[in-house]
Amino acid sequence: MLKPVATRSPLDDREGFRSALRGWFGKHGKDYPWRRTRDPYAVLVSEVMLQQTQIATVLGRGFYTRFLERFPDLNALAAAEDDTLLKAWEGLGYYRRARMLRESARAVIDRHGGEFPADPAALLALPGIGRYTAGALLSFAYDRPAALVDGNVARVLARLFDHAGPVDSGPMLKWLWETAGHLLDPDHPRIYNSALMELGQTHCRPGVPDCLSCPVAAFCTTRDPSALPVKAKRQAIEEIDEHAVCVLHGGGILLVRQGRGRREGMWRLPVREKGEVAGLPLLHRRKYGITRYRVSLHVHACPPDHPAAARDGEEWIGVETLGSRVIPPADRAALAAVLGGAEEIA
Ligand code: SF4
Repeated sequence: MLKPVATRSPLDDREGFRSALRGWFGKHGKDYPWRRTRDPYAVLVSEVMLQQTQIATVLGRGFYTRFLERFPDLNALAAAEDDTLLKAWEGLGYYRRARMLRESARAVIDRHGGEFPADPAALLALPGIGRYTAGALLSFAYDRPAALVDGNVARVLARLFDHAGPVDSGPMLKWLWETAGHLLDPDHPRIYNSALMELGQTHCRPGVPDCLSCPVAAFCTTRDPSALPVKAKRQAIEEIDEHAVCVLHGGGILLVRQGRGRREGMWRLPVREKGEVAGLPLLHRRKYGITRYRVSLHVHACPPDHPAAARDGEEWIGVETLGSRVIPPADRAALAAVLGGAEEIA
């Protein structure tokens, strides 16, 4: 691929590097709602949402705005019941984030009288706040000189310095944080961190980057950016089957509330062993991914008096109330297909 040749190192000409980034961001930086606020609570909400969800989803589907309307401040979030909180998070996935956000809100109220601390150690002591989020809060909300490294920043730095260490290894992480700290603009940390992250989202994107219009191409030493960053080998995906029963009775459907774990508090179709559903008609089949598993969910029609029907801890839920329940996306899609009478194989 065509790529301009580096003429200087960002470390040797830090002000030149920062100024190139600032100039570009001043003209082309995106106007996200979380960039219009200095409220640390609103910044934290955006950061937690964006941890595992794309900007386009968070913005395009209105999650950020709706969440802040529903929970406008720390007190509102700290007082949220589990069901209300999970419902407001529905569609974003990784529900643990919502609970952790509430834990942080409660801790800020209990330990700091409702005022977010502007001190790195106090921030890091809050539940769910790691090094990246502390850096984001300090720089975005308080404009304090705090470095941050996320996936975008790691990619940009690995390419700028042509560093082929695996980005998820200890030594590479140490180097990334140190380098991010050396390059950080102490006079404009908010703009600098936003610009570096945005460069990773726009020009220095994964795969083949757009080097020809990159504002810091003169500082970038890699000759093969698409080979960077290097990642450690991922765990292999495991295929598994899941057999659920659809038991209907008197306007209700049998569901089970999930205990501790990734789907805690959510309602699912009851899952059975394959042998228990032998002979029951298959109503629906779909595939979904969760962590390192690729799951084939089979939903079987099950009469209420069948041995595979109700078990302890399972509940009859009125079909008309399903819309207000928090249900994982695969189960919700299966319920829509089954209760709508459609058979969908995805
Ligand atoms: S887009 Fe990335 S790889 Fe390309 S010149 Fe810019 S920093 Fe380097």
